[in-house]
Amino acid sequence: MSQLAINGGAAAYAAGELNRNIPQFKWPIYTEEDENAVLQVMRDRMMSGSEITKKFEKAYAEYIGSDYVLGYCSGTASLSAAMWACGVGAGDEVIAPSLTYWATCAGAISLGAAVNFADIDPETLCIDPKDIEHRIGPNTKAIIVVHYLGHPADMDAIMAIARKHNVKVIEDASHSHGAMYKGRMTGSIGDITGQSMMTGKSFALGEAGVICTNDRYLYERCISYGHYERTGVANNFNSSERFITDPELVHFAGIPIGGRKDRMNQWCSALGLVQLKYFPERVAKIEEAMQYFCDGLDTLPGLRAHRPAKDSGLTKGAWYSSACHYDPEALDGLPVEKFIAAVQAENGNIGKLSNYALHTHPVFNEADVFHQGKPTALAFGQRDVRQGKGALPVAEATPSRAFVFPRITFLDKPFIDRFVDMLAKVIKNRGELLK
Ligand SMILES: *Cc1c(COP(=O)(O)O)cnc(C)c1O
Repeated sequence: MSQLAINGGAAAYAAGELNRNIPQFKWPIYTEEDENAVLQVMRDRMMSGSEITKKFEKAYAEYIGSDYVLGYCSGTASLSAAMWACGVGAGDEVIAPSLTYWATCAGAISLGAAVNFADIDPETLCIDPKDIEHRIGPNTKAIIVVHYLGHPADMDAIMAIARKHNVKVIEDASHSHGAMYKGRMTGSIGDITGQSMMTGKSFALGEAGVICTNDRYLYERCISYGHYERTGVANNFNSSERFITDPELVHFAGIPIGGRKDRMNQWCSALGLVQLKYFPERVAKIEEAMQYFCDGLDTLPGLRAHRPAKDSGLTKGAWYSSACHYDPEALDGLPVEKFIAAVQAENGNIGKLSNYALHTHPVFNEADVFHQGKPTALAFGQRDVRQGKGALPVAEATPSRAFVFPRITFLDKPFIDRFVDMLAKVIKNRGELLK
């Protein structure tokens, strides 16, 4: 008789029992305080104002430990601005990990630059520092680092390579809200950071993002690219003492040189101020629950939690899209897709990794954004850094060697033990799936 629900056995959970609204999973946590803060912006008719956004920028700068923060309408916009600020332009190259969300690097194409994709490390799933240096050429302007699925990238190694070659480091901290790297917040370590705060991310404000930097020059460039006068500081654009000190930009004051209006809206900023108050304590609870859950995962054959070693000084913050390494060879060759389907039939909510390797995507290889009759990746005299299938084996294989599961927001041992038992049931009865 079949044990597994996918073959007609009894399911481990009732249908809908593990839905996203149960307290163990419910995220983001919004209370009346959040609702009132947003409503107040509407009542004050201040949706396009700047006061609350300025307050949020200041509070977030303090939280993350950066001198300057600018609010954006999206993470995508913040990353494009960060690239432009670092000097990325026509004919240039950026280096980025292949396994990430497209917004990490797609902005480079609309700046006329090419993306030279690097492979990822099979343990951290972040850009592999060993696959960076040989990719640096005369037109490489930036290395973009993603703290993938909340796991901090190897910043010491990456910063050392960047400094040696005089290349900027852009952190994409969209997955790593609250994650620490050796005593510092991820997002406060590189030259500049772009970070998403859209609804699906750990710090969820709707559609929003930020840049963070300690570099006044990069901050000014970001203002000049898409912020014009509404930052408040930039109101000095039109004062006798001009804010922008970059001689290249000073006479453009008042009109964004990027022709963009990328500012964060105040509903998001108001929500952000309330969320920030409670975020550290919520992160601490998630950390406690997820470490316990991962200890359970690590007892099962073929599974290994995606997390830094406990004594590494690295943490995963709010554990965005938490992942588990999956080793099909240790499970008689059972493909991850079949494992996921069987768990889902038990009414367990795990899923496939949502990203895929980007280096073979036509946008980075064929798209002719400027109608020049050739791919933008080549059109401004770049070297051809395009790569085909097979070039970055770890990034290509990882979606078949991992699965994701929801964050658990507080330590509930019986709840977590039962979830681990459900995974154990599928593993134990995998013979049923291999027939
Ligand atoms: C979500 C995400 C972005 C883009 O952020 P948006 O706010 O959706 O524009 C960028 N990089 C990564 C890694 C992301 O996951």
